Amino acid sequence: MTPRVEIDLRKIRHNAATLKKWCEEKGIQMTAVVKGVGGDVQIARALVDSGITSLADTKVERIAKLKSAQIPATYMLIRTPALSEVSQVVQHVDVSAQSEIDVVRAISAEAVKQNKTHAIIVMVEMGDLREGVMPKDVPAFIEQILQLPNIQVVGIGANFACFGGIIPTEQKMRELSSLAKYIQKEYSLLLRYVSGGNSANYYWLKQTKDVGAINHLRFGEAIFLGRETIRGAAIPNLYQDAFCLVAEVIEVKTKPSVPYGVQSRNAFGETPTFQERGMMKRAIVGIGRQDVHVNGLTPLAPVEIIGSSSDHIIVDATHTDIQVGDHIRFAVDYGAMISLMTSPYVQKTYVQTDEKNGRFPTKTSA
Ligand SMILES: *Cc1c(COP(=O)(O)O)cnc(C)c1O
Repeated sequence: MTPRVEIDLRKIRHNAATLKKWCEEKGIQMTAVVKGVGGDVQIARALVDSGITSLADTKVERIAKLKSAQIPATYMLIRTPALSEVSQVVQHVDVSAQSEIDVVRAISAEAVKQNKTHAIIVMVEMGDLREGVMPKDVPAFIEQILQLPNIQVVGIGANFACFGGIIPTEQKMRELSSLAKYIQKEYSLLLRYVSGGNSANYYWLKQTKDVGAINHLRFGEAIFLGRETIRGAAIPNLYQDAFCLVAEVIEVKTKPSVPYGVQSRNAFGETPTFQERGMMKRAIVGIGRQDVHVNGLTPLAPVEIIGSSSDHIIVDATHTDIQVGDHIRFAVDYGAMISLMTSPYVQKTYVQTDEKNGRFPTKTSA
């Protein structure tokens, strides 16, 4: 069946276990963030098999799904929840990230109702300007929470390089660390999670001489695609090719290189321009923008992506003898992986290369 994503579980296990080891060498616990793979059950199981004990997602539904699949882990909700979600959050989530007192109050009330204690991590704004309480307001925020029944503050956390592109530098980590130390002391709290960030923290993790109070990181892309996210660089000793899109050629024809007739906008409101290259061999691949973030694809065959619409990718196939029915393989970036893993129209297949064939650094081949 095409289109399909081939997922190499051995490579994912290797990446997860390697990152976990690097974290442990510095006294840091690691949570695997599975939002990028749509909370895939098989992948979650592979992660747990590789020694991961904590899984995080941004959607409660996916946490509920993984729990009902009986994948044993501590489940963390890392997108601060909406007020309308609190009952599901208390029901399914072990630890949730929080930044709004009204939501925490609602969680507390719901936890009383469900006769549970709910653990929370207070998100701190450190400059990336997405979620989080401003650092100066964190003590007051925590004081308010400590008044609430059935809520336990188990950590503070920060996020970097997601919205504003702000790098988790040694300086930022020291700031978060001293805030954590202050809170632990002032409120006699044991912060099991002082969560310093995500795959953008890779360089900090490898280079820091002193992690301070930071004892936790949340990794998604580094596990699945073996990349840090500041420069998009490959992380040495990890695989970059655990995911691969396989799509099928549905038309091959020699056609002009520039559209002809009276031109207006395309289906996406764009007015694309094309280079005149005379007649060219063009192929259509049977997947498009409703199922994949096309800009994140790199063909592993000597074709070049010319453009795409909702269900088609058009490639220059001049330098191939590609025929209808052939498969073209594509490497994926994070955006492409997320879209493919979320689309119900893309089949997921699990492959396990053996050590010999899948040695890194991996070469791309047609
Ligand atoms: C997505 C996300 C992560 C994981 O980010 P990666 O760059 O994939 O490692 C960690 N924390 C939060 C809050 C996130 O939203």
